[in-house]
Formats: sequence, C-alpha cells, structure tokens
Amino acid sequence: MNHQAVKCDSPVFNSSLISTDEALTFLLDSAVVVDCKEHVSLDDSLGRVLASDIHSNINVPGFDNSAMDGYAIAIKDSQLPKTKHSFNVIDRIPAGKVGGKLKQGCAARIFTGAPIPPGANSVIMQEECEVSEDGALITFSRSIKLNENIRPTGNDIAEGDVILCMGKKIQPQDISLAASVGVSELIVFKKVVVGVFFTGDELVDPGLPLGPGKIYNSNRYALVSLIKQAGCEVVNLGNVEDKLSATCSALENLEKKCDLIMTTGGVSVGEEDYVRPAVESLGELKLWKIRMKPGKPLAYGRISKTPFIGLPGNPVSSFVTYCIFALPYIKKMQGNEKYKPKSIKVKANFNCKRAKPRREFARARLDYSTGSPVANLYPKQGSDVMSSIVWSDGLIEIPEDMTFEAGETLNFFPINELTE
Ligand code: AMP
Ligand code: MG
Repeated sequence: MNHQAVKCDSPVFNSSLISTDEALTFLLDSAVVVDCKEHVSLDDSLGRVLASDIHSNINVPGFDNSAMDGYAIAIKDSQLPKTKHSFNVIDRIPAGKVGGKLKQGCAARIFTGAPIPPGANSVIMQEECEVSEDGALITFSRSIKLNENIRPTGNDIAEGDVILCMGKKIQPQDISLAASVGVSELIVFKKVVVGVFFTGDELVDPGLPLGPGKIYNSNRYALVSLIKQAGCEVVNLGNVEDKLSATCSALENLEKKCDLIMTTGGVSVGEEDYVRPAVESLGELKLWKIRMKPGKPLAYGRISKTPFIGLPGNPVSSFVTYCIFALPYIKKMQGNEKYKPKSIKVKANFNCKRAKPRREFARARLDYSTGSPVANLYPKQGSDVMSSIVWSDGLIEIPEDMTFEAGETLNFFPINELTE
C-alpha cells in the first residue's frame, strides 16, 4: 500500500525505556492519515470519518411553521392584550400543504409542521380553544403574543452553515442532520486496513481440544473485535508459527495489503520471540520498555513503509496497550479529530503507600452510591487475569512516583472511551 514512511529517527524512538506519555506522543506524532477518500451513502456512513466539511444549501426549517396542532390566527396588534377572542375558521392546513392568505380576524385549523399561512401571526394550541359544533368559530380567553408556537425559517440551520466538520466520526445524529439538509452522500476517509497475526506455539483456537501446555488464543478474538469496533477492515492471518521464516512471510504478506500491521506476543527478548528479528530484517523496529503496568514491552516500527505495532502477549497487557496506544493511533490514521480517550475524575477507594516506578492502569469498578464516583480495584491485577477487564467499568490511572491515601482524586478511563 502507498504510505508516507513512519519516522523512526527521533531520540524517543531510539530510547528503549520511556514513559507512557513519551511513547504516546511519539506514536501519535508519527501516525499519518490515510490519503484516500470515498463517497458513501448516508446509510453506509455510520462510524466513518468525514473527509470534508458539510455545508447546508437550505434553511431548516425552510418556512415558518406551526409547532403545535391548533389554530393559526391573523390578529391586529391592538387586539393582542384583550382577554377574550373569537376567530372565524376559514382554512385547514395539514403538514405538507400550503394555506391561502389569512385575513385579519380569521383563523386556519393548522397541524404541527404545516406552513404558517401568509397573514397569520400566532398559533393557539387546540387545547386552549373552544370550538363551535360546526368547527367554523373558535374562542379563547387570554391575551396573545405575536409568533406564539411559530418555528421560524432557519431556526435549526441557516443556509450556508457548516453543519458537520471534517474529522468527525459519524454518529446517527450526524446522519440525521445531513439528511435534514438534503445531503444524500458523504465524503469519508477510506477504511483503515489492519493486518494481524498472533504468535506462540502454545496457542490453540477455541473449539479444538487443548493439548498439554497449550492455551486458547484469546488475544486473536480480542484484537480482531476491537479493530472491527474501531471501524477498520481486518486481514487476519491467525496463528503464525514461532519461526523466523513464518513470521517474515506473514509480515511481507500483510505489508502489501494493509495500512497498519499489528501482532500480539513474541516481542520480548526471549529465544522464542521472532517478531522482533523478523521486523528488524524487513524494516525498522524499536522495542520500548514503557514505564507502565500492565504492558511493559511495546514494539513500534515499519515493514517497508507500513507501520507496525507489536503488542505484548499477555492478554491484559495486549488489551490495555491496544486501548492506550494502538486505538488512538488508528483513530489518527482514520482522520478522526478526537483520537484521545477522555477521562473522568474519581476518588480512589484504596491507598498507595509506596510510590510506583511505573504508571498503572488498574482495572476498577465505579460505585456511585454516595453520589460522586468512587473506584474499587479488582482484587487480582495480574496481566494474565482477563476477568479483571470483563469485571471492570474501565481503567484507573495510578500515576508513577506518587503516594496517596484513600479518597485521592485520580483519572478514570471508562471502558467505552478506551475501546470505541
Ligand atoms: P509472549 O509475549 O509471547 O512472551 O507471551 C507472554 C504471555 O502471553 C505468555 O504467557 C503467552 O502464552 C501469552 N499469550 C501470548 N499470546 C497469546 C494469545 N494470543 N492469547 C492468549 N495468551 C497469549
Ligand atoms: Mg510467545
């Protein structure tokens, strides 16, 4: 695929022990937006990222219209303060129809969304009116203001307004707004194609029996679904043998088809870890030891011009490093302006007596029973304990080099912010 080369020549890239913030800044600075755009219909636009601003060529509403079912009246200014009124009903205007000119002292039966007829200057709710048996006369007993229950032209959108901005990930409400101005197609960035494979001769696919020493390949299912949830196309090569030649051919295969390559496992410096030497032989790689927990090892580099992210093998580590590093990187490639997860402030229901050398992203649940959110930790925080993520509402960020008592205010990332 055609990409700008990722930059691997900065001091950060060349330093192996780095902070979470340094790694994230470096990754995000080197993420390049896919350079291809396409037209999609509104029905196919959900979750895509807008590649141009959308303007409105019309006013919405396009005409003054009734906000209520009731009676449009034509009333003289001098009559407004009177507390008793009666009007002859001379017209009936359902939504989608246009009424004739209303003379002063006359009314038209009108329905929500129907155009205000020329001459009318207020709408009275039907609940307030007494109607004669034949429907030809209405009376009501209160003073009137001009323009009651009238939605003016351009109340929602004015002609020429920018209604949606480039870089917005399209949500159902955006599709509704585009439709309301008559736009039927949107220009979006091409879908990012992410190639994945998984290393480890211990891995067995679910559905097959487990032999001695084997485990099920859970990262594969986590990562493929996370990447799909991010709106990317996935090229999944599945499990790749712990051999240099197999790892190299998987990388070469994906480099031709994909915008980004991601793997889990095999990036430690063990003898059975072939991702590192394979990437080094085909392109460039930096193996970072990030001062964070879980997820110390993270690999970043390129195969030819295609960026490569190697996540750690432990399931919690690969999940959390995907959330903290890979998803913001993917979002930036997608052209999404909002690529960083948002955190909320919560109170820790635990203390930290000894300062931690690594920033921790601990699995926690929020308790709102006292009003403001209080975070409780899952009792087992090991990088192999995937149940901790399933149990949690998100990740609480425990800063490095800090001690605190219970009640301390910390950042909490809700799980949807980290995965969507
Ligand atoms: P590695 O990074 O390859 O040394 O793997 C670290 C740990 O993660 C080992 O316990 C592996 O068995 C485990 N692991 C690696 N890949 C996966 C996977 N796809 N699914 C579940 N566990 C894995
Ligand atoms: Mg391994």
